[in-house]
Amino acid sequence: MKINKRISKLLKLECGQCSSCCRDIQVDITDADLIRLVKHTGISADRLVRLYGHNKNDRDIESDWFNLSYGKRAIVLNKKRNGDCIFLERDSGCIAYEARPMTCRIFPICVVYDEDHDIVNLEKSEVITDKTITCTCSGKTGQTYEDFMTIARQARKEHALFLHMIDKWNSQTDNGNKNDFLRFLGFKVLTHTSK
Ligand code: SF4
Ligand code: SF4
Repeated sequence: MKINKRISKLLKLECGQCSSCCRDIQVDITDADLIRLVKHTGISADRLVRLYGHNKNDRDIESDWFNLSYGKRAIVLNKKRNGDCIFLERDSGCIAYEARPMTCRIFPICVVYDEDHDIVNLEKSEVITDKTITCTCSGKTGQTYEDFMTIARQARKEHALFLHMIDKWNSQTDNGNKNDFLRFLGFKVLTHTSK
């Protein structure tokens, strides 16, 4: 991937701390994100996530869908009743900052991959360009290309491994429920809630 003026400008963006991305969008996560969050917070995996079924208003990452006995689902970070991310404290920000998901580390940039999971482009996140949220990031010092790409490459690797696990799960004939899926990923499940 070549660095051009547009990409240099993107990398200069610094967070305006408005918290909109922690309130108003779904945060996609992988099993690797979840391992870090469980370790950091001591909260069980089943309480940290929720599943959603396909909805025409949701962003459709086709390959992230997995089959459960009651239909196709995708996994995202759980939210509070008011819609805030479970880790957002309005006074102090993210209380799981050190273990925040890769999606949060990369935002507001969207990393574009090709079929082989190679990074081919960087763009401003679609939820900003389509005005789902108003992001107050502005061009300041930002981050270096090398620092950003280190995170982007790790995210790409973890996402590819997660897709591999989903493929494996989807190839089973008996797909089970949410807790069965989490156990399949290697997590201990403490609640009896199945959806
Ligand atoms: S929406 Fe943009 S400015 Fe607001 S917290 Fe998220 S990254 Fe920062
Ligand atoms: S994990 Fe932290 S940074 Fe990510 S959405 Fe939640 S509060 Fe925001």
